[in-house]
Amino acid sequence: MPDRTEPDTRPTSPRGDGPGLLRAIAARLPGLRLLSDPLDRESYRRDETAYLPTGLPLAVALPQTTAEVAEVVRLCREFDVPIVARGAGTGLSGGAAGIEGALTVAFTRMDRVLEIDRENLVAVTQPGVVNADLKRAVAAEGLFYAPDPASYETCTIGGNLGTNAGGLCCVKYGVTRDAVLGLEVVLADGQVLRLGGRTVKDVAGYGLIPLLVGSQGTLCLVTEATLRLRASPPPPATLIAFFPTLDAAGEAVAGIVRAGITPVTLELMDRVTIRAVDEAHRLGLDRDAAAMLLVESDLSAQAAAAELDAAEGACRAAGSGLPVRARDATEAEWLRQGRRLAFRALEAQGVARMEDVGVPRSRVPELLRAIEGIAARHEIPVGTFGHAGDGNLHPTFILGRDEPDERAAARLDAARHELYAAALALGGTVTGEHGIGAAKREWLARQHGEPTVAVMRAIKAALDPADILNPGRVLG
Ligand SMILES: Cc1cc2nc3c(=O)[nH]c(=O)nc-3n(C[C@H](O)[C@H](O)[C@H](O)COP(=O)(O)OP(=O)(O)OC[C@H]3O[C@@H](n4cnc5c(N)ncnc54)[C@H](O)[C@@H]3O)c2cc1C
Repeated sequence: MPDRTEPDTRPTSPRGDGPGLLRAIAARLPGLRLLSDPLDRESYRRDETAYLPTGLPLAVALPQTTAEVAEVVRLCREFDVPIVARGAGTGLSGGAAGIEGALTVAFTRMDRVLEIDRENLVAVTQPGVVNADLKRAVAAEGLFYAPDPASYETCTIGGNLGTNAGGLCCVKYGVTRDAVLGLEVVLADGQVLRLGGRTVKDVAGYGLIPLLVGSQGTLCLVTEATLRLRASPPPPATLIAFFPTLDAAGEAVAGIVRAGITPVTLELMDRVTIRAVDEAHRLGLDRDAAAMLLVESDLSAQAAAAELDAAEGACRAAGSGLPVRARDATEAEWLRQGRRLAFRALEAQGVARMEDVGVPRSRVPELLRAIEGIAARHEIPVGTFGHAGDGNLHPTFILGRDEPDERAAARLDAARHELYAAALALGGTVTGEHGIGAAKREWLARQHGEPTVAVMRAIKAALDPADILNPGRVLG
């Protein structure tokens, strides 16, 4: 469904000398795989944000080496053709969607785990490695890579670095940025920079890695990453609790945080989501409950039991029914998988638009109330789920498939703008993990204020003066 009230920043005519660029690439990089067939290009037009305006890429480059990436960037600069970096295209803010006449550089062929260094607990990977493949590769060595977006079976490390992806384990292990020790990047002038390395501590100069991680392809292209690993934790012990009201679930989240425990996962699903997930996966969830919390502990057996006891205490105090513990690893995996597939389950109910807002954890109950109010006022069903332990929720608005695009878009727009305003009023953020991308540019200044956005613009101008890296994204 097109979101017609979204500002449309598509250039009326493509920028730069596209044909000249393609001739130069053919001459200088004859081995580079370049997709120029319209059907191929069409499949790189969108990411997971079907509702945003997009453009058809001029071509899609599939490099295999850093040298190829650097040369492509130099040529794009020479011919003034913008570049869109792309991983698996699962992004939910339009960061990897095509720009009319721009070159999309897809990293899916740079998909090797280059090294697993057990002594220093790091993995060195190329950007096109799928998150779950990295997890499996290090698990075979008894090690653990923590960041796990729910899309982990498809999304790539490059995309995770581009968005600073979160996921189900952030509450304990932090976001992608917290797992990065080193990067190799190609800057907008084609220069290759190696940052950081294998040292756990490094305060020499300004922190460029935290700046570049999450920059959504607007400041650099990541060609290699050195990522922090941990010893594999025991398989998680799992508890689920059902609540008679959303408020009670929100209070339980606040209670768990207050109890000072750090479960590895603390996820919430509301009634609409519980029903959608149970309909799709038949997990035997309580479909009449207003909300459910999924709590996991990856401590050793006794400590995990104590952690779940404390979580159970907080749930009961907030008014849950008797929490249930997974009997074994298989049952625990089903429950986790059910939560991971929440968005797909909601998509089966209509046209679903997943939102992403964050608030301080103590204010989750207020956010849940605000979401209920917004959905009721605009008469749009909403399924809310997400990383409650991080204060990061994904209210997902669901519209009927038969509603005319224009009307649906207007209603949805009003609802989502109220949602962002509510998150800010609670001291939160308009995006906890999906990014500003092309979806929320007008909200950046409303969250941070113009002076802060001016500093961001100065950084962009310093690193990409010709504005060839994902122009119009993040800063607009
Ligand atoms: C069902 C579902 C569940 C999801 N669950 C989560 C979740 O739990 N947590 C979460 O954070 N996100 C989640 N997402 C969103 C998405 O999966 C993440 O944002 C993910 O990090 C995107 O990875 P990707 O490989 O698909 O990147 P893409 O979508 O291809 O790109 C994302 C951004 O990164 C940039 N980029 C890609 N590669 C590079 C590179 N090599 N160098 C520089 N920039 C680059 C792109 O330009 C773009 O701006 C979910 C999405 C879906 C569809």
